[in-house]
This record gives sequence, structure tokens and C-alpha cells, in this order.
Amino acid sequence: MKIKYIDVHSHMSEKIFDKDRDKILKECEKMGIFVINCGGTKESNKDSLKLLKYKNVNINLGVYPIQTTEMSDKEFFDELKFIENNKDKIVGIGEVGLDFYWIQDDVKRQLEIERFKEIIWLANKLRLPLNVHTRAAEAETIAILSKMVHTPTILHSFGGKTKLGKLAAAEGFYISIPPNIIINKARQKLAKEIPIEYLLTETDAPYMGPTRDRNDPRNIPLVIEKIAEIKKMDVEEVRKQILKNAGDIFNLKI
Ligand SMILES: [Zn+2]
Repeated sequence: MKIKYIDVHSHMSEKIFDKDRDKILKECEKMGIFVINCGGTKESNKDSLKLLKYKNVNINLGVYPIQTTEMSDKEFFDELKFIENNKDKIVGIGEVGLDFYWIQDDVKRQLEIERFKEIIWLANKLRLPLNVHTRAAEAETIAILSKMVHTPTILHSFGGKTKLGKLAAAEGFYISIPPNIIINKARQKLAKEIPIEYLLTETDAPYMGPTRDRNDPRNIPLVIEKIAEIKKMDVEEVRKQILKNAGDIFNLKI
């Protein structure tokens, strides 16, 4: 398969795709779209691994930030062990991160931070890139990562202020842009300001679509076109640079 596009963050293992997952992923293969599928719970991590049967899918395993606050020590560290045991099957660790939008209790936020740090240690140890969620916690997330992380890091669907996005790129972190850039003005501004060398494309499927409908990786070319329009760049140039960025992060043979 000749890879033309990359979706660095999707959840094609979710039940909402049970009826047509196979059709979608095969169409993606024809379109040259390579998909990184992210887990985030005990169940979705197992389901993600099943997608390895597709030639155009690679896997990230993780523990979703809200989840980390609901797990006992044993459950959390058992899941990290599961990730480590599968290290040869995966190309990154995610979805992980910090969410202060849904977690507002201070004690729980502290636990969320501690567990995020444990996950960063694991990524450093395994030398795997991080696929990070941050919501209403952008400054904290960037500060922690800047101090600790030694592997390539993606801030997925970054919804923070443009200033923070620029700070993240200056620290060497990548910002991935989902298809809702078509309708979201803040995200358009972000894509304009971040250098193309630090941009990626994703879908966060089934979320973050160009409309309210279910989103899937076949929408990636739309994101490339929109970024090219916003940055007044050639579509081909944007496509190639973003593919190169992803190839560097995940060691993909492109
Ligand atoms: Zn996600």
C-alpha cells in the first residue's frame, strides 16, 4: 500500500463502527489512508489490538485521563503492564493525558496528574511516542511534558488557546488537527499559526467530524485541503510534510 494520508488518532474499534468498520478501513486502504487507532480502557485496548489484522492500521494503547481517576492502584498498574507486554505490537502510547473539564475535584486532579506522570515514565522507558488528550488543562499538560518527556509527543485535537499551541510547538510537540477544522474558527486560527513541521492530521473518529455526523478516517483529505487553504500552501506540499512528520514520529516506512 502506498501511504498518502495519515490519521494519527482515531477510535475505529468503537462499537459504533461494528457494522461497517471493515468496509471503511478497506476503503481507507484504497485511498492510501493509514490509521493509528488509540485505546484508552481495558476493553478498548484489547479491541484495538484486533485491528492489527488490517495492513493500514497501527495501534496505540493507553489509559484515558478520566479513566485513570476511576481505577485502583492495582487496576492502573496492571493496565500499564498490559501495555508494556504488548510493546512490540504498538507504535505509541495513547490515548493518555489530562482532563480538567470533567475532573474538577482537586484530589482527583492530583491523582490524574500522578498517573499521567507514570504513563510518561513508561513511554520514556519503552521509547514510544505519546498521543495526548488535554482539555481545560493545556498549560499544566505542556508544563509536565516539557519537564519529563523524552519521546515524540502529539497533542491531539488541541482546543487550547493559540498562544499555548504555539508554546507547545516551540517545545517540540506536535499538534494534530481533526476534520472539525472545516467549521471551527479557533482551530483554523491554530492551524494558521503553528508551523507546518509541527502539524498532523487526525479524526478522533467517531468524534470531531466536519458535521455532527459520525466521523471516520476517510475525512482526512478534507483536513489537508483546509490546512492548505488556511496556510496558503500547495495541497501536495501540505500532504507530504504532514506524512513526513507522522513518519518521523511513528517510524512508519513511507
Ligand atoms: Zn481520542
